[in-house]
Amino acid sequence: MLVVKFGGTSVGSVERFLEVARIIETLEDPECVVVVSAMSGTTNALIRGARLAAAGQREQYRAIQRELLDKHLHTAQELLGDSPEYPPVQEYIIKQLREYGQLCASIATLGELTMRGNDAVASLGEELSSRILAALLRKRGHQAEAISSTLLVRTDDHYGAASPDMEATRELVHQKLRPLLARGVLPVVTGYIGATAEGVTTTLGRGGSDYSAAILGACLDADEVWIWTDVNGILTADPKLVPEAHTLPELSYREAEELAYFGADVLHPKTLAPLAERGIPLRILNSFVPSHPGTRIVAEPSSERLVLPAIISTEGLSLIQVSGNGQGWSLNLASRALRCLAESGVDVLMYSQSFAERGLNLIVRRQDQDHCIRLLEGEFAQELRLGLLSRIGVQEEVATISVVGIPDPQKEEPIAAQAFAALGKLGLRVISVAQPASAYSVSFVIPEREVARVVPFIHSELGL
Ligand code: ADP
Ligand code: ASP
Ligand code: MG
Repeated sequence: MLVVKFGGTSVGSVERFLEVARIIETLEDPECVVVVSAMSGTTNALIRGARLAAAGQREQYRAIQRELLDKHLHTAQELLGDSPEYPPVQEYIIKQLREYGQLCASIATLGELTMRGNDAVASLGEELSSRILAALLRKRGHQAEAISSTLLVRTDDHYGAASPDMEATRELVHQKLRPLLARGVLPVVTGYIGATAEGVTTTLGRGGSDYSAAILGACLDADEVWIWTDVNGILTADPKLVPEAHTLPELSYREAEELAYFGADVLHPKTLAPLAERGIPLRILNSFVPSHPGTRIVAEPSSERLVLPAIISTEGLSLIQVSGNGQGWSLNLASRALRCLAESGVDVLMYSQSFAERGLNLIVRRQDQDHCIRLLEGEFAQELRLGLLSRIGVQEEVATISVVGIPDPQKEEPIAAQAFAALGKLGLRVISVAQPASAYSVSFVIPEREVARVVPFIHSELGL
C-alpha cells in the first residue's frame, strides 16, 4: 500500500496533470491512495479574495472568482475534452466557485473574516483539483474516485491549523477508504483539509497536504508515503539557485524534521511525526524527473551515507516591525502580537525580539503582509494612540536562509560558525538572526534580491 501526494506545482497546469496521471500509471503497488494539493497559486488567490471581501472590495473578489473559474474550467476542458467525464466536472467547478462567491458576499456583509470562514474558502482549491484528477484518471481507464478528506480526517476546531484526532481518523479511514480499496478503486483524496466532529471544514495549515499524506499513510499502515514535488528531493540547497546542489539521498526522521522546520516549503514540519511513530518510510520525489531516486527518510539511515548540511531558503516574505517607544516596550506586547496573529491564522515563520531597539521583528509570507499589519494596528490601536508604540512598519521583499547541519562528531566547528564566516566574507548586512542553542543550525533574514548571490556563495564556502 502506497500513499502518493502531488503538490501544487505538480498539478499546476494541463501538462502537469497529464504527467501526474502517467506517474500514477507506473506505480507498481496494486493498492494506492493519491493525495492532491490545489493547483499552484489557487489557495493564495482564494484567501486573498476572502480578505478583499472582508475589506468591502467586492469588485476585486469577483475578479478573483472569475480568474479561478476560467483557470479550472480551461484545465478540465483541455484534459477531459469531449469525454463524458467533462460535463459533471464542469458543473462541479461552476457550483464550487459560485459557493465561493456566496461565501465572499457573506464575508463582505459581515465585514469580517473569521478563521472558520477562512477555512471554508481556502479548502475549495483541493476540492477542485481532486475532482479534475479523478476524472482524468477515469478517462484514461482507471477506476478512480475523488473523495473529500472532510469525510476522512477528523480534527479539532483550531481553524487554520487544526490537529487531527488520529483515533477517529483511523476509524473513518477504515469505514470509508478501505472498502473503496477493496473494490479496486483508486481514491484521489484532497490534501490540506479535514472536518470537526460536527462536520465543519478545517485546514491543517498552509502547505498541509504533505501532512495529510502522512496522516492517511499512518492510518492505513502504508508501506511507504511518497511526496512528489518539483525538485529532486531535499538537496544541499534549492537547485533553482544552486544548479550543482546535491540531493541528500537518505535522512533520519529526526534530521528531516529539523530541515522541514526551517523550510516549511520543502516539507510541512508536522509530516514526520505520524510516520516516525509507525516507522513508515517517506520519499520525496520530483514529478518533473520521475526517474530520480530523490530523498528517502527512514528510522535508521545507513551509516555509510554522506552526511551533508543543507541550506533551506524561503523567498516571498515580508518583515513586520512592531516598534516600541522608549520604556513602553514589554514582553506582554510581544506575546499579544504573536497571539493576535496566531488566532487570525497568520503563520509567523520566524521572529526575534530586539531589546536594544525595543521592538519585535516578525517574518510572514508576502500574501499575509497587509492582513498582518491591519491586525496589529487593530490590536495596538490604543498603544499607538498613546505613543507607547511608535509604529508598525514593514520591510518588503525579504527572504530567510537557514543553514542546517546534521550533528557530526568528526567536525569541530559548528555549522553556525561556518555560516557566519561565509557571510562575513561576503560583507552582507543581515537584517535579523535566529539561532537555537545547539549551534547546529542558524537562520537569517536578508533582502530577497541577495538570495541568488548568497545561497551559492555559502554553498561553496561550506565545501558543498
Ligand atoms: P509543493 O508545491 O510540491 O508542496 P513546495 O514549493 O512547497 O512544493 O516545496 C518545494 C520547494 O522548496 C522547491 O521547489 C524549492 O524551491 C524549495 N527549496 C528551498 N530550499 C530547498 C532545498 N534545500 N532542497 C529542496 N527544495 C528546496
Ligand atoms: N494548497 C495548500 C496551500 O497552498 C496546501 C498545500 O499545497 O500543501 O497551502
Ligand atoms: Mg509544499
